[in-house]
Amino acid sequence: MVDRIPYVVKEVVDEASDVKTLKLVPESGPIFDFKPGQFVNLALHMREGPVEFLSKPYSISSSPANKDYLGLTIKITEREGSFPKLVATLRPGDKVFLMGPFGVFTFDPVKHKDVVMVAGGVGITPFHSMISYATDRKLSNKLLLLFSNKTCSETIFYKEFDELAKLNPNFKYLCTATREEGDLSLPIARGRFDQDRILQACGGSVEGKHFMLCGSTPFVEGFRDMLYAMGIAKDHVLYELFGSGV
Ligand SMILES: Cc1cc2nc3c(=O)[nH]c(=O)nc-3n(C[C@H](O)[C@H](O)[C@H](O)COP(=O)(O)OP(=O)(O)OC[C@H]3O[C@@H](n4cnc5c(N)ncnc54)[C@H](O)[C@@H]3O)c2cc1C
Repeated sequence: MVDRIPYVVKEVVDEASDVKTLKLVPESGPIFDFKPGQFVNLALHMREGPVEFLSKPYSISSSPANKDYLGLTIKITEREGSFPKLVATLRPGDKVFLMGPFGVFTFDPVKHKDVVMVAGGVGITPFHSMISYATDRKLSNKLLLLFSNKTCSETIFYKEFDELAKLNPNFKYLCTATREEGDLSLPIARGRFDQDRILQACGGSVEGKHFMLCGSTPFVEGFRDMLYAMGIAKDHVLYELFGSGV
């Protein structure tokens, strides 16, 4: 049985109309150690109903170097009885429980010298942790983020990525929106990533690059198969599936 570690909601940040970041602090002691890219199970205590706790996995979106809080960035779905709908009711001061950290979808500064991070929607969360970490630690690893969303308004963290790119000369990013909806004035490209666009973003060659992919299962599997079709070796493609519900 994995321990449930009590944490307290310090702040809730609205990242977009349907995405919130919970900034969590331990009820006592320091934040546990974790690797950038790992996830936790977030457990909520149920006051009524047949089960005592409900839990779901969430990638940690904050950097391990950030000792002020641990961030979880969660897409809120309005579906009755969904876990994210319960998350939306959390307020500062509320108690939650974390189990973990878990997972092997992690940024390894020694192995990932030249890495392309591919995120679909809320699949950006582990990359936000990795990029913030590499910037905090002033690492020389080359990081390219390809971030795809349905609309410009759903493109969370893009202002922060702009700041991170100013702080970290080794970090570049390209955000795209596939639909002509929302705030079209934002500096976000349009359309899907295809082989030509990936190659262009990679400076004309994918030689020696490691790819990390995260997002909904259809997004990640589609992108992964496109990378395989481009001849990228399977051991250079690491991915995390968030399921079909995100
Ligand atoms: C390693 C990992 C990391 C993750 N990190 C994040 C993260 O950082 N941020 C984030 O937002 N999410 C993340 N997720 C996804 C998250 O765990 C939940 O799956 C997501 O929040 C959706 O939860 P849900 O309860 O709505 O539905 P789900 O977990 O998708 O599904 C719950 C059940 O409801 C069913 N269901 C789904 N949709 C419907 C529907 N419309 N009507 C009826 N039944 C339905 C499903 O079939 C399933 O049986 C992560 C997932 C994994 C595996």
